[in-house]
Amino acid sequence: MDSQTLSYLQELMLIASRSDDSRNSIEKFIVALRKKFVFDNVAVYLQDKTTQNLEIVYARAVGRSKTAEADAAWGEDFAGQVVKKGQLLLRDPKPDVSPDDRLHQAYLLGLPIREGTLVRGAMVFVRFGGPVYEDQHIAVASLAGEMLSMLFERAAWAELQQELEDLKRQMQLQEDFVSTISHELRTPLGFIKGYSTSLLRPDTNWDEATQKEFLTIIDEETDRLSLLIENVLESARLQSKTLPLRFQPLRLDGVLRDVTMRIRARHKDLDVNTQLESVPAISGDGVRLAQVFENLFTNALKYAPGSSIDILLNQVGDKIVISFIDHGPGIQKESLPLIFERFYRVRGEKTITGTGLGLYICKQIIQAHRGKIWAESTPGHGTTFLIELPINSSR
Ligand code: ADP
Repeated sequence: MDSQTLSYLQELMLIASRSDDSRNSIEKFIVALRKKFVFDNVAVYLQDKTTQNLEIVYARAVGRSKTAEADAAWGEDFAGQVVKKGQLLLRDPKPDVSPDDRLHQAYLLGLPIREGTLVRGAMVFVRFGGPVYEDQHIAVASLAGEMLSMLFERAAWAELQQELEDLKRQMQLQEDFVSTISHELRTPLGFIKGYSTSLLRPDTNWDEATQKEFLTIIDEETDRLSLLIENVLESARLQSKTLPLRFQPLRLDGVLRDVTMRIRARHKDLDVNTQLESVPAISGDGVRLAQVFENLFTNALKYAPGSSIDILLNQVGDKIVISFIDHGPGIQKESLPLIFERFYRVRGEKTITGTGLGLYICKQIIQAHRGKIWAESTPGHGTTFLIELPINSSR
């Protein structure tokens, strides 16, 4: 082997070992490969993990057939055979094709792409009108097939590792949730049990004011308990997509005004400023969307106590944007993308009661309206929750 070939192989190797399975990486590899290995079209197929069907992940027309479609239908059949046999295959054009019909004079070379010992797909090259693949070319192409396998294998490992990480985090969240929820259930139950036992004591006569005070506590704690149970059930229904939404024409300024009025009635000292542009009606579930806004209010009251709240409603292009701004302690950058996950609570959030379900429920409701919700925050200066809803969100 001459030094030129060696440095060529080294170049291929370097690209394959540094890349991932993105289109861009495969592209780089194929471009480098073509310096010594001539072909007109190439296509890479991988088996879909669930359906087992071959899916095209990369196709390119580079050579004489550049004007011909780089669609991958030409190689699909052949790729299927390579996968089935699990080995390098060559196919010459059918003898009955006229020598002038170059585009049908397809010389195919197919190489299996493996993950460990399993064949996961195939890379197929075509030369229109030849020349036939010589042994030397086949050796280079085989090596390229191995390198590409390596590239995909590494990407699959990285994906698996990510899945494991996600699973681990989800399990940790579930564990935290069980301990939170048992605490959350026990606290109101303890109050209810304690105060009703006191009221029923045969040796004590409570005056009317004390009776009322105890009953009020029982009443409030029962509400807290049912809200908690409702939240847990609702998040389960939302996750299994069995929560029905009633879509109808809806004016969001009206919904926001109603919710704000209700909150102001309950929290007389709360400073809420609204700037609600008149926006077109959307198709939405008013009860569910009101629930989202109430949740944001409840969170602001819990996590940004004493802060004023600004609510903006604007139309931006064909979307409606709602900004819900508090000036509380804010949220650390690393927690921002996680707060919408089921059961997630910011670590150290032990003194404030909660289940980590509120924002998850909000996100599910907004997504059911084909919208987006996210948070932005400058720690120490406050948090802004943003909701984007398409004006034409009819289903
Ligand atoms: P919960 O309030 O039950 O913990 P949520 O899903 O409503 O659950 O909120 C998730 C987490 O996001 C909270 O634990 C809290 O730490 C954080 N958070 C939510 N809203 C705010 C806010 N306005 N300011 C600061 N932190 C917030």
